[in-house]
Amino acid sequence: MRFLITGGAGFIGSHLAEALLAQGDRVHVLDDLSTGSIENVRHLKADSRFAYTIDSCARERVVAELVDEADVVYHLAAAVGVELIVESPVRTIETNVHCTEVVLAQAAKKRKPVLVASTSEVYGKSTTFPFREDGDLVLGATTMGRWSYACSKAIDEFLALAYYKERKLPTVVARLFNTVGPRQTGRYGMVIPSFVAQALAGRPIRVYGDGTQTRCFCHVDDVVRALAGLMAHGGDAHGEVFNVGSQEEVSILALAERVRELTGSASEIRLIPYEEAYEQGFEDMPRRYPDIAKIGAALDWAPTRSLDEILGDVIAFHQAAAALV
Ligand code: UDP
Repeated sequence: MRFLITGGAGFIGSHLAEALLAQGDRVHVLDDLSTGSIENVRHLKADSRFAYTIDSCARERVVAELVDEADVVYHLAAAVGVELIVESPVRTIETNVHCTEVVLAQAAKKRKPVLVASTSEVYGKSTTFPFREDGDLVLGATTMGRWSYACSKAIDEFLALAYYKERKLPTVVARLFNTVGPRQTGRYGMVIPSFVAQALAGRPIRVYGDGTQTRCFCHVDDVVRALAGLMAHGGDAHGEVFNVGSQEEVSILALAERVRELTGSASEIRLIPYEEAYEQGFEDMPRRYPDIAKIGAALDWAPTRSLDEILGDVIAFHQAAAALV
């Protein structure tokens, strides 16, 4: 099989590329390196079944050609990371909506199946737990920059489902909950790489808000297994939305303590008000907990890696990177 992965030089995309190559498939990555990095795929470049194009997936002609060469498309290219979203809302909205329009339009011309990666952010402030794929999305005011991300990804979902319904294009939507693992950067605000870097450097671990907010972190290897499984599954998954995430819930304060313990760090844990961390009036989600029964039933999928294993992996990655400097 030949796979096109937009955003394939990003954190999740590069792990997906690796997994598909490992199962004997061919992979072409399209990435503009805005948040991805060539470092993420450097180790794949020697493989003759791997190719990459550094360009934007907003460019129709480039996308048309690459879609033509592929059997299946993974559309992972997106502006991600809460910090980036708050700082660059124009880029977030334009990238997320326009790139998806281009990819789906080109895929529809050639009738190539597409998986669109979405996000648990779309559930917004919903308090109906666990979050189910058919539950309501509860977003905040348009004056709050954060919600532009959820809204842009919700449009991506609508579009993917509309292409399925109206044009019979085989599309699948994967709503990814907090995904972590080696190669994720803390540059765009993701909490685990940020905490690990702070703990290893002996700097204060910066917990935003009071730290009682909770998240469920899923290892990227488990997420990649789900993404590969959804596209291998075929017909039943088409036109459907699937949550992909872990149900091991942890508060951000407890996470900071665990990172400090596992790194053997003496870092202070410092509480930082949200308005100092992001912007005035910033709204965080107090809880984000997925229902994963749907993907469990379809693929017999469940996460296999505990939070401690995830943290161990991320810490080892940071230590190895530091040793190279
Ligand atoms: N967070 C934090 N310190 C950081 C980065 C994030 O305390 O340096 C908090 C953030 O406010 C949120 C949680 O950790 O409550 C997860 O943040 P992340 O940006 O990783 O993902 P989100 O779930 O917000 O998309």
